[in-house]
Amino acid sequence: MKDKHGRVIDYLRISLTDRCNLRCIYCMPEEGVGQMSHDDILRIEEIERIVAVAARMGITRIRLTGGEPLVRKGIASLVRNLVNTPGIESVAMTTNGILLPQFAHELKEAGLSRVNISLDTLDAAQFRQVTRNGNLEDVLEGIDVALRTGFKPVKINAVTVRSLNQDFYEYAKLSIDRPLHVRFIEYMPVGESSGIDGAGWGKKDVIASEEVIEIINTRAQAEGMGALIPAAKQKPEGWGPARYFAFEGAQGTVGFISPLSRHFCTECNRLRLTADGKLRACLFSDEEFDVREALRGGSDEAVQEILEQVLMSKPDEHHDKVGTARGMSQIGG
Ligand code: SAM
Ligand code: SF4
Repeated sequence: MKDKHGRVIDYLRISLTDRCNLRCIYCMPEEGVGQMSHDDILRIEEIERIVAVAARMGITRIRLTGGEPLVRKGIASLVRNLVNTPGIESVAMTTNGILLPQFAHELKEAGLSRVNISLDTLDAAQFRQVTRNGNLEDVLEGIDVALRTGFKPVKINAVTVRSLNQDFYEYAKLSIDRPLHVRFIEYMPVGESSGIDGAGWGKKDVIASEEVIEIINTRAQAEGMGALIPAAKQKPEGWGPARYFAFEGAQGTVGFISPLSRHFCTECNRLRLTADGKLRACLFSDEEFDVREALRGGSDEAVQEILEQVLMSKPDEHHDKVGTARGMSQIGG
């Protein structure tokens, strides 16, 4: 299916819950979100139904996110049913990785294609500060398990934030010895509008990807490693809007996602579904279309109509707007 700007829309990101087992300071308030009542949240069968309708319209790829998707009950059977939905070619997940040791095997058997694991820093104290209660070792174990279980590719995503002063070079080196695809994502100062950003970060904390590349290359060359090389041929499957590089001889890649310094709106192929059943055409646009009512009260045609409305409302680009009324844990990042 195409939007009115001619872009093929074949990708749906689904937030399964607004709850999480971490409390990242830029994503959630300390007390958590969890204000949605049980009834507000889409039931598993409702998610499956909307995917079936969307797949008939041309959606082929699904990403499950949250909140933390692995805290949602029935996750493996949901994955299995989505994988078996006619028209769906891949189901992937973005997770903080903490529950992967518990679920990775089941998810792989259910047919999950890929996992992206979010990890902003390799410094245990800094990790605890950013996540408020997280233990770095748990995520590192989650990454190991994802690799051992045979997920391919395994991508690890770090949001880059100036005032955190992360060690980008050490992080990029994770791509050398194992087939890990490291990606640096520009921090999006959305919290100013949602009011749930406890980090106090703002526009001054956005680091353009070019600057991160330069920092990594300067260190790599100083340590005799050689600068990053563009890796057009090594792009991991499901590469999305990232630009990929690799260190010479490395097993993995280093990617950069630059929503602010290099808009990729012209290539945007996605719609978003929130945990409470609102469809969004753009991360940064607060226009939402209520598909839950259509699911609960109507036919598949009514669901399809809402999908068509959201598709037609998709803006050409976000025009430098980066705020959202809802936090990332509700929209799904
Ligand atoms: N809990 C899962 C996780 O952390 O991977 C999935 C949901 S989380 C909201 C998805 C992604 O959004 C995470 O990688 C997180 O770092 C990212 N994110 C949250 N707030 C962000 C922001 N303001 N700017 C950039 N990325 C953000
Ligand atoms: Fe949870 Fe992911 Fe938000 Fe962190 S970024 S609080 S892990 S939903």
